[in-house]
Amino acid sequence: MNFKRFTFNYFQENTYIIWNNNECVIIDPGCSNNEEENLLENFINNENLKPLKIINTHCHLDHVFGNYFISNKWNTDLYIHEKELDLLQNSKTIAHEYGIDKFSSSPHPTCFLKPNEIIDICGLNFKILFTPGHSPGHVCLYDEENKILFGGDVLFKGSIGRTDLPGGDYNTLIESIQKNLLILDDEVKVLPGHGDETTIGFERKNNPFLI
Ligand SMILES: [Zn+2]
Ligand SMILES: [Zn+2]
Repeated sequence: MNFKRFTFNYFQENTYIIWNNNECVIIDPGCSNNEEENLLENFINNENLKPLKIINTHCHLDHVFGNYFISNKWNTDLYIHEKELDLLQNSKTIAHEYGIDKFSSSPHPTCFLKPNEIIDICGLNFKILFTPGHSPGHVCLYDEENKILFGGDVLFKGSIGRTDLPGGDYNTLIESIQKNLLILDDEVKVLPGHGDETTIGFERKNNPFLI
């Protein structure tokens, strides 16, 4: 699997591009200004890639900043879980509350992700893990063959997602992690929405929220 991480916007959010041959999928596009948009666009052009889909693990502002830019430029599909729709539709208002006035609203999703369904990302099979708690319709994307998890804001290196935002719930988040993530093998690599990558085994042993 080819993937690249960019870290974008005021919230230091990780945006991932996954590609194969000449097609790519963008997970949580956080590009929030011209400079960040150019970085992403130059990479896509230099690698001669065609963006097919955006997938939002969840629809907090920092993960959807670039939805408009990408979908407008490349006419991509947009995948989210239906329970994130309110957040997505309110993101301009939420941006305003953070003092961000330059925000282009995301288009409406073209597809709603279902728990445990398998979706195609550039020829790879990813299972949708439903992991609410940080937000109501959060999903993680798991490539069982390559043992890679795109984890959004559920599990971080040494930490977990915050649960004090609207729709967040601590017990739900812990249950999501235990039921969906801690059942995976130690060597599964976790690519989170913020900070450095980690593994399930490392977090099982060292994460203070889980031991
Ligand atoms: Zn979040
Ligand atoms: Zn985030």
